[in-house]
Amino acid sequence: MFLTPVLFCTLLLQDLELSAEQQKIQEQAQQILETVEAFTETKKNKLKPYASKDKRVYLFSDFRSKEAKIALKDCSTILACLDRSLIEPEDPSECSLRGIMIQKKRTYEKLCDMLSENVPSMAGFFLRQRTTSGFTLYDPPISIYYFEGGIKAEASASHDMAHNFVHLEMNRRYGILPLWIIEGLACAGEDGAFGEVWSNWYRDGFVFSLSHSGWRGKDTQNILEKMKPGFTELFAYAARPYEDAEAHMAFAFLTYALEAEPLELKKFCDLLKVEYGKNYELGGRFVPSVEFQQKILLEAFGEGFEARFRAWWLDPPKWNAWQKSEKKKR
Ligand SMILES: [Zn+2]
Repeated sequence: MFLTPVLFCTLLLQDLELSAEQQKIQEQAQQILETVEAFTETKKNKLKPYASKDKRVYLFSDFRSKEAKIALKDCSTILACLDRSLIEPEDPSECSLRGIMIQKKRTYEKLCDMLSENVPSMAGFFLRQRTTSGFTLYDPPISIYYFEGGIKAEASASHDMAHNFVHLEMNRRYGILPLWIIEGLACAGEDGAFGEVWSNWYRDGFVFSLSHSGWRGKDTQNILEKMKPGFTELFAYAARPYEDAEAHMAFAFLTYALEAEPLELKKFCDLLKVEYGKNYELGGRFVPSVEFQQKILLEAFGEGFEARFRAWWLDPPKWNAWQKSEKKKR
């Protein structure tokens, strides 16, 4: 194609801008990584290091070592649950993920302060985190978790950590995905690995009263009975704010796909990845239209997906069925 000089300049300028943006992201990632490493290595902060045998999960924690080890194991279990469906990485140590699990308020605040000082472009973000129960970063892949005393009764630190590891791993594999998939998959992963869902992403008010082990049963079945055909509500669900019915639909979709049609799910995610790369700004939110998602659903899963999905949910297998069959194989 012939380019007029003006158009040519614009294109070049865009290229330059993009690389400047990428450079900024890289710089930020480096600053974050260096800060986190310096912080975890400082003896005074009392963050003990733990690593899984395959070097895929690194955890730093001031929890009692028994609890930290449970969290380490839970993170590995949930990754194994994803691998089963989405194919294992060839070298796990090449795709390691990092978690920091903090119990002491002062330590958590100190880390937020240090990050806000050392990463000026994200100073506001890190300062705001001082009053939250943690945050997850994708570049570099790190989940920082602060176990608030106040929510102790309704939270499970190791499940929260494992839930966040699903976010990290999915981002490593597919980059940015629509939020309903990110959150639905983390809950499906929790249920698949432990038979309970603790870390649904809106842990206020009424969610407290839900039973943690009821997601694979009546709670979800009742919602699916009323769900309109074509997944229109689910595909239009932005996941912020949390809606109980749509959250269960997301959980149901991903539980079924992970367990019954994993290769097709992989294809579905691959198609989304391509779409994001083609039509979305780097780092921006991903909100594809309902029609687009219906189109790639058919492309990835083929005809009759909804009928198979609904039939499966009438009598879903017990949560640990795959673990049992896996043990038998060994
Ligand atoms: Zn989440």
